[in-house]
Amino acid sequence: MPRLRWAVVGGGMLGITLALRLSQRGHDVIVLEGSHQVGGLASAWRLGDIVWDRFYHVILSTDAYTRALLDELGLASEITWKTTRTGFFIDGKWYSLSNVWEFLAFPPLPLLDKFRLAYTIWKASRLDYDHNLDEIPVADWLENQCGKRVFDKIWLPLLKAKLGQEYQSVSASFIHATIQRMYAARRTRTKQELFGVVPGGYARICQALTEYLANWDVPVLCGSQVEAVRRTEKGFVVECADGSQLSCDRVAVTAPCPITAAICKDLSSSEYHDLRSVRYLGVICASLLTVTDIPSYYITNIADDRVFFTAAINMSSLVGPLSSQSASLLYLPKYVAADDPLHTLPDRDLQGQFYEGLRILYPRFHPGEIQAFRIARARYVLPLPVLRYRHKVPPMITSVPGLYLVNSSHIIGGTLNVNETLKLVDTAVHRLCPETTHRPAVNVTQPC
Ligand SMILES: Cc1cc2nc3c(=O)[nH]c(=O)nc-3n(C[C@H](O)[C@H](O)[C@H](O)COP(=O)(O)OP(=O)(O)OC[C@H]3O[C@@H](n4cnc5c(N)ncnc54)[C@H](O)[C@@H]3O)c2cc1C
Repeated sequence: MPRLRWAVVGGGMLGITLALRLSQRGHDVIVLEGSHQVGGLASAWRLGDIVWDRFYHVILSTDAYTRALLDELGLASEITWKTTRTGFFIDGKWYSLSNVWEFLAFPPLPLLDKFRLAYTIWKASRLDYDHNLDEIPVADWLENQCGKRVFDKIWLPLLKAKLGQEYQSVSASFIHATIQRMYAARRTRTKQELFGVVPGGYARICQALTEYLANWDVPVLCGSQVEAVRRTEKGFVVECADGSQLSCDRVAVTAPCPITAAICKDLSSSEYHDLRSVRYLGVICASLLTVTDIPSYYITNIADDRVFFTAAINMSSLVGPLSSQSASLLYLPKYVAADDPLHTLPDRDLQGQFYEGLRILYPRFHPGEIQAFRIARARYVLPLPVLRYRHKVPPMITSVPGLYLVNSSHIIGGTLNVNETLKLVDTAVHRLCPETTHRPAVNVTQPC
């Protein structure tokens, strides 16, 4: 197999890892990333006096692909693991649901309903993904399993919190994958959850990956917003917004489907149709540093219509105080459809709604206690696993020889997380270049 020149469009976790694997198979690879840094959804930013993930990230002990990559980067031994707690805020009241005993004492449900709920979770955790799950609306499946009372009290608010009104179009495979992942995080006898982080968060992981790519001679060109990928007689030309052009033999586009459809100029009409049919869920997520005394749950699921956001993630309960003044790092996500008008609302208009929700959640909260506040937005986060999604997945190998599309729309029967993303890279690399074999990894500390 000749050494080919590959361009990978997108420097998120998928793009940079795919570039690494292609290089390890003996190809010349270059990564073109539109923003000023790598990492995409897993990238970091400055908040007050700290630098941490724009969106909250944890590692599960069962994240074998993530752990293997961290091992390759020399970071696996640094992961710190902690047992965390889960809270529920339902109609103005706080509940802890962090282990079996608290679950049995959970007041909003009668005992029989608790058993039905526990049985459904246990059953879903044991069930292998099968195509029938793709055919049933998630709401119908859950109501059939648990009954209407449990559905209305527990599942409906959770589905709305995670999917907004989009829950109505999503199949049971969504809840199956979610339960499987979260159940796996709760390994102990009392089903307490265990989460891990690398000190420094994903900023550190992305930095290590970039250095590792440099060792493999893979340039990562940040600020290279790709506007067009065109087939030529000799291969491809990739055109960037700054006017630069790159010629190469093969292209792998890892951007979300609507962007992929806009930049790939030679696809067939059915491929454009497939790409444009994938519906995305986006997120608007406030990050703040506050000295407010807040409960130590890592995640609090919110089922209270008065609160604008749908969960509160207290990152400091996992990583300890990060800021010089021991403030807590809190994330407040609100999941909305990709075309929701909220995406274009100015930060100052959203800020008031976040503060109002904080006042309901923490009655002692005062805006003066906030040391830093920023809002991160992403339109294209989760390709919605709608009914019969497996028939609607865009092709990875396109009708244009040498042009490949790989993104999270190709995750079937799993949830969106870095581990699934890296698993997808493994699948993709075998399909994109089955004829080449892996070269041995270089030593991170000894650049070649
Ligand atoms: C709120 C939230 C919480 C999460 N929590 C966790 C967690 O706890 N644990 C976990 O494992 N995972 C978590 N994830 C998921 C994880 O972030 C994703 O699975 C992963 O980052 C997806 O990577 P990706 O490369 O597929 O996509 P992206 O990160 O979206 O990367 C796509 C890249 O393509 C670039 N791009 C787009 N268009 C162009 C163009 N025209 N030219 C050049 N570049 C372009 C973008 O700038 C971006 O860098 C979370 C995600 C979110 C949003």
